Amino acid sequence: MSNQLVIHNSLSREKEVFKPLHEGNIGMYVCGPTVYSDVHLGNCRTFVSFDIIYRYLTHLGYKVRYVRNITDVGHLEGDADSNAEDKIAKKARLEQLEPMEIVQRYMNGFHDMMKIFNTLPPSIEPRATGHIVEQIEMVQQILDNGLAYIKNGSVYFDTIKFAEQSEKYGELSGRKLEDLLVETRDLKNQSEKNHPSDFAIWIKASPEHLMRWNSPWSVGFPGWHLECSAMSTKYLGTNFDIHGGGSDLKFPHHENEIAQNYGSCNCAPANYWLHTNMLLMNGRKMSKSDGNTITPQQLFTGDSEHISKAYSPMMLRFFMLQSHYRSTLDLTDDALLAAEKGYKRLMEANNILHAMSHPGGGSAGALDKEIHTLMSGAFEEMNDDFNTPKALAKLFELVTKVNGLKAGHLPFNEITEDTLAQLKTLFHTLIFNIFGLKDDLQVANAAGNGKLDGLMQLIIELRATARANKDWTTSDKIRDTLKELDIQLKDEKNKTIWI
Ligand code: AMP
Ligand code: ZN
Repeated sequence: MSNQLVIHNSLSREKEVFKPLHEGNIGMYVCGPTVYSDVHLGNCRTFVSFDIIYRYLTHLGYKVRYVRNITDVGHLEGDADSNAEDKIAKKARLEQLEPMEIVQRYMNGFHDMMKIFNTLPPSIEPRATGHIVEQIEMVQQILDNGLAYIKNGSVYFDTIKFAEQSEKYGELSGRKLEDLLVETRDLKNQSEKNHPSDFAIWIKASPEHLMRWNSPWSVGFPGWHLECSAMSTKYLGTNFDIHGGGSDLKFPHHENEIAQNYGSCNCAPANYWLHTNMLLMNGRKMSKSDGNTITPQQLFTGDSEHISKAYSPMMLRFFMLQSHYRSTLDLTDDALLAAEKGYKRLMEANNILHAMSHPGGGSAGALDKEIHTLMSGAFEEMNDDFNTPKALAKLFELVTKVNGLKAGHLPFNEITEDTLAQLKTLFHTLIFNIFGLKDDLQVANAAGNGKLDGLMQLIIELRATARANKDWTTSDKIRDTLKELDIQLKDEKNKTIWI
């Protein structure tokens, strides 16, 4: 371990010393959500992980341009083929709404959830529909370079030709040209594609398709992978530092993104590829289809068969910190209960520490040395591929020291005033600035603390009465005052909840 930042690069499958392209600056692109349904906890885990990475890079003094897109067109059900339906268009058809109404609704919901989890907004949040021109230009460049072909108004990336020309196709996901060719022989080619591994970069719209744009090839829409190539190039340049996303995006999304970037400008998009691992529940992948799922709202209210009580958003963020971003994270009620204890212990120790004053006259003894080793150890762990669980473990060793000093088991005269001051700064920096936690213990107690919840129910009722009487001054005052206290009211079907 060292003071240098080391990052695990999915491309080399190794940890590498991080070197930015431009001293002091970092360009980071993270694949954002497809806004056709409520954001789920798995998505939250990925975005919280990248939030911590963003916060840590900023803490190290880098000026980070963090680009996280919104996918609002082109993400098809199943394989990206002309017969598949766009996820957003499908939802719009089922709900008889405009596709952009669907996009707006779920994008708002996503932003609300990101705020609840205390993630910082990205520097730029580009939307695929706002970058059709750039995507058409990129398709043209790939065609000009001979790496795509046109079939009935759709344009396909020629993966076999690219794989024959360059070692790059399959580098990220480990697929080889031979595998692709075997697939080509084995699978009957039912679509317009020359090879099953080819993918659409422009898709001709069928007559009923709602989202469509003019292009030189047809009235149609861009393939899903294309938006990230086009928007990362536009905002971060043809070659930038970090590209991230969930591990389920490695193939085909990221592999195809890399192919498109090579195909258009013969350059590698990102130097470092980071992939977060999946969120599980009770040991199985969280999945809507077999009921093995829980929404963030259910966790905040405790309203689910999978949990015994409500958990606060910051408690969940703490729970996520307890595992490394490259490991799977298994959500179980037992693990949440244990994490809640840890979260409370940390927040309490932080409050104790900040209320603590040094009696004076201490000198740098063994305890002082131990504290300094732990403090620098916490940052060394963060430098080792953002290892939050190990950094947290160091912080908890420091919690033991703080509690020991408070209880009198440990001698104050073995630490200097300066060390105590540094400890206070470290707790604040790590807990709030880097881990992005907030002390919502009062809110976390909602389910367990009958008094507080009773009080909140009274306030909610008063607001409901004010609204029924059209007394907007009172109802707005209630909402605004709560907002200042960081308490949000959410109107659900037949009740109002607070978080
Ligand atoms: P999507 O909206 O499906 O494109 O996903 C948005 C982001 O969430 C992507 O980076 C996905 O890889 C990530 N993601 C999806 N499911 C999970 C999961 N169960 N655990 C962690 N990340 C996930
Ligand atoms: Zn993407």
